[in-house]
Amino acid sequence: MINFEEALKLYDLDIYTLGNMANEIREKYFDKKVFFNSNRHINPTNECVDFCRFCGFSSHRKNPNPYTRNKEEVLKEAEDSINNGALELHIVGAHNPKLNLAWYCDVFLELKNRFPQIHLKALTAAEVNYLANLENISYKKVLEKMAENGVDSMPGGGAEIFDEQVREYVCKGKVDSKTWLEIHGYWHSLGKKSNATMLFGHVESREHRIDHLFRLYAQQEKSGGFNAFIPLVYQKHNNFLNVKEFPTGQEILKTISISRIILSNIPHIKAYWATLGINMALLAQEFGADDIDGTIQRESIQSASGSKSLNGISKRELVSFICDSGFIPVERDSLYNEIHTYSREEINAIL
Ligand code: SF4
Repeated sequence: MINFEEALKLYDLDIYTLGNMANEIREKYFDKKVFFNSNRHINPTNECVDFCRFCGFSSHRKNPNPYTRNKEEVLKEAEDSINNGALELHIVGAHNPKLNLAWYCDVFLELKNRFPQIHLKALTAAEVNYLANLENISYKKVLEKMAENGVDSMPGGGAEIFDEQVREYVCKGKVDSKTWLEIHGYWHSLGKKSNATMLFGHVESREHRIDHLFRLYAQQEKSGGFNAFIPLVYQKHNNFLNVKEFPTGQEILKTISISRIILSNIPHIKAYWATLGINMALLAQEFGADDIDGTIQRESIQSASGSKSLNGISKRELVSFICDSGFIPVERDSLYNEIHTYSREEINAIL
């Protein structure tokens, strides 16, 4: 394991040297495979009591279109998604007191009863912390209730940047860094898996990113349940962060490569196409990433801040893009079990 200074110096390497270092690691484990899944994002509400400066999703004066779905609407959205081929429902939303823990548990249980085959990935550590405070119970109780009612895994959102000062500025009031990590640690102790994210490219420094990666590495050493790390590029529109300089392509790719090198104990690095754009996400597969996320079908959070992910991407397009980039498309389930590997002939036949 390299130390903090050595990790920071990786940014000084030229992009090709650094990319090769990261690519050697990804090829050792996954060769030319690029993983993706058939998933659907469901966001039950955008009405939020918190105020994160980077957020374009919550209903506030830049996005004056509040909505809160009822249970039947969520179930209908789920049914449509499953009919459309989704194998995973990714359910996250805003911090809204109208949707309490009982409401979520009711929805989870009903989803599992109606669609027992579906993988439920739901509630970020920030939402877990919010619900614990709302109900005046411990986060452990919230996590136990989620598990009891059918949640299979947790998404990695709400991590943003762990540095306390930056966090105070970009998302004051949200779950603190220590609690975010503890929530995932406890979830892992229940035998469950989760992912981890980092929001970068706004007001944080390279040092803050390295610090974030080191804290994740340490947590993984303790609890071991992170499947994938997802570096999320900040989306600049429709929010209150007012960042003038967007990170360059090189800075984004370097950050992905450095993530692959530092997080040697987390199996997968996901280049999330909804924040990177599909072309950059494909390029990132040569710089340490091995996953591109999925078909999504509908995406409301990143697209609210400018990304082109609102209507997802078809499986046909996804496998074709991966193959055209010189990689092997592998559809996976939510826990990275391989479902199907696509050959060139097969892709030609479905195009
Ligand atoms: S990021 Fe989440 S918690 Fe923060 S304002 Fe947006 S919806 Fe609310």
